[in-house]
Amino acid sequence: MKALVIEKPFQASIQEVEYPIPGMNEVTIKVERTGICGTDIHIYEGTYMSSYPLIPGHEFSGVIHEIGANVTGYSVGDRVSADPNIFCGHCEYCQTHRSNQCLNFAATGVTRNGSMAEYVRVPANTLIRMPDPMTFQQGAFIEPMACVVYAMNRLQVQAGNRVILFGAGAMGQQLVQAISRSGASELVVVDISPSKLRIAEQYGATLTVLSDELDARLCGQTFDIVVEATGIPSVIQRAFSYMGPAAKYLQFGVADSDVTVSLNPFKLFNNDWTILGSMAVHYTTIPAMRWINEGRIQVDHLVSQTLSLEETLDFFEKPKDRDLLKTQIQI
Ligand SMILES: [Zn+2]
Ligand SMILES: [Zn+2]
Repeated sequence: MKALVIEKPFQASIQEVEYPIPGMNEVTIKVERTGICGTDIHIYEGTYMSSYPLIPGHEFSGVIHEIGANVTGYSVGDRVSADPNIFCGHCEYCQTHRSNQCLNFAATGVTRNGSMAEYVRVPANTLIRMPDPMTFQQGAFIEPMACVVYAMNRLQVQAGNRVILFGAGAMGQQLVQAISRSGASELVVVDISPSKLRIAEQYGATLTVLSDELDARLCGQTFDIVVEATGIPSVIQRAFSYMGPAAKYLQFGVADSDVTVSLNPFKLFNNDWTILGSMAVHYTTIPAMRWINEGRIQVDHLVSQTLSLEETLDFFEKPKDRDLLKTQIQI
């Protein structure tokens, strides 16, 4: 089968590789759509946990092509997506309901081959059925949306909270819709792209501000909730300065694994701040699927372009357009 293989950081190619035969408790999916995530860029650049060679791709939809031994409840032809995270089930964290912190963490497209290929093999217990009206384009949003559901569960927005969100990329835009439906009174969205800010305004932001104009426009204002969805250290550093008394801060954007920022511990103590992380998905794929299926959170307008596998190589190699939201691959 054809696959995009990252051989080592900054080196990828399209290769003919072996079809992944499903093992015990596994199925092989014929991939229809794969979303490209910021994490895939980190993997391409060698700044995430992956080892190489690797076929990336963890946001996908497709059709079951072959079923391994011991799998029940699924048939060839079923339309599915899958939770990429694979938990061991027996470590301390799995046994205490914190399995996204599994000590033996594995993930499709991160630590084992993913969906930037004609076929992907996954454990059957990670499958999610796609309801009939859901398109493959929408199905490939179940995983990123599940990250948003988990973030919202971490955040616990209170009625009337004032929120500021840094980053209006594809993930930021899903957060805009989720936060604006959660009871927040204000939602300020900050980005460098005017076109992304216009979309955020259409889907629930109460005010949008270009990064360059932020300090002048909001001078002296602070917020109850600060959400950082860029992962860029200078933006993170700046985001801290918008935390008000008793504020919550959520790090949603994935930063390079070796960068640091500074935080004043006296302010942390004195202001009763809460600093939250949000590690991917934690049994949140079903609510994510429902949000998409019911149209509560809309995703179709977030697809900026659909590429072939060959065009995806080019996409990895070139600088990214600041106005792009989600790029998907049609396999
Ligand atoms: Zn992702
Ligand atoms: Zn575990």
